[in-house]
Amino acid sequence: MADDTNLQILLRRRPQGTPTPDDFAIAETPVPQPAEGEVLVRARFLSLDPYMRGRMSDAKSYSKPVEVGAVMEGQTAGEVVASRAPGFAPGDTVLGGFGWQRFSCVQPARLFKVPAENPPLSASLGVLGMPGLTAWVGLEDIGQPKAGETLVVSAASGAVGQVVGQIGRIRGCRVVGIAGGAEKCAFVEDTLGFDACLDHRGDLRAQLDAACPNGIDVYWENVGGAVQAAVFPLMNDFGRLVMCGMIAEYNDTKPAPGPNLMAVVRKRLRIQGFIVSDSGWPRYGRFREEMTGWMQAGRMQWREDVVDGLRRAPEAFIGLLAGRNFGKLVVRVD
Ligand code: NDP
Repeated sequence: MADDTNLQILLRRRPQGTPTPDDFAIAETPVPQPAEGEVLVRARFLSLDPYMRGRMSDAKSYSKPVEVGAVMEGQTAGEVVASRAPGFAPGDTVLGGFGWQRFSCVQPARLFKVPAENPPLSASLGVLGMPGLTAWVGLEDIGQPKAGETLVVSAASGAVGQVVGQIGRIRGCRVVGIAGGAEKCAFVEDTLGFDACLDHRGDLRAQLDAACPNGIDVYWENVGGAVQAAVFPLMNDFGRLVMCGMIAEYNDTKPAPGPNLMAVVRKRLRIQGFIVSDSGWPRYGRFREEMTGWMQAGRMQWREDVVDGLRRAPEAFIGLLAGRNFGKLVVRVD
């Protein structure tokens, strides 16, 4: 495609249940021109994340939905092509929420400058980006893992889960992951260094009993559904449940029956939901410094699942909701 064309993926209609490729449309439009005070950015990588399923729906949520016909929302890492804003010059590499499109004009207040390489640019969408920040903030504010405690993480091989578990190990916890299939579990144990990883496609309750002989002090909830139901009875007194997400339920058209929450009262559990944008971004600098230190010291591994071509974003996103990604899902735009 010529450099003077913008490629955009639009929300064509609101999905009913599981999204299909027909819920998206592809548009080719002229490259926008930056107004005074704006920067023109060319996306190199687009992050695909489960929260996007929520943005496709007009159900009441913490954030406004994407309008039908509008460009899908998303974080991208890219390069400044033209700048009419002080502090930014062509060639700068930046991180921001530019959506599922190749070119966009943005205000500098919405941009973070990041290195082009070392670590690779795509890492700023995963381990060093919103998912990594989510893990770091949620553990610091809610999970508060202490040495010797047992931390269980669902969707353990994914963008958030892989960071949660490794921080838990750094903090001295016994860390047990939950993932779908033998290959993901082997990666979580062998590469990420979790103490154990359990396959939720097997008898999860029996595996949890064996892997968590002292119960569970911190549960990082990424999944909900049957995984949550298996974990919940093993929570220890004064345990913390970090309610990060429940991807197993995102395509449900009716709410699933929940666990018996009376146990929250009985066991004095603290269940607290959070959204990374509440307090995360002002702490991004501190997070990035600590995370970079762990990466340089070889204490933080990460895995990305890179899909080539922006046109493949819808099919890749649909696969994410079915567990077909293996690691942080990103799109290499061109
Ligand atoms: P991942 O990279 O972990 O990808 C999603 C994974 O979820 C899949 O690979 C699959 O892994 C698992 N999954 C999907 N469906 C099911 C199911 N039915 N049962 C069990 N597992 C399933 O995504 P992220 O790390 O980006 O996100 C993880 C969670 O964190 C999501 O719920 C997301 O919404 C939430 N989140 C919340 C934020 C916040 O601010 N609160 C910020 C960022 C993310 P497997 O094959 O191993 O089951």
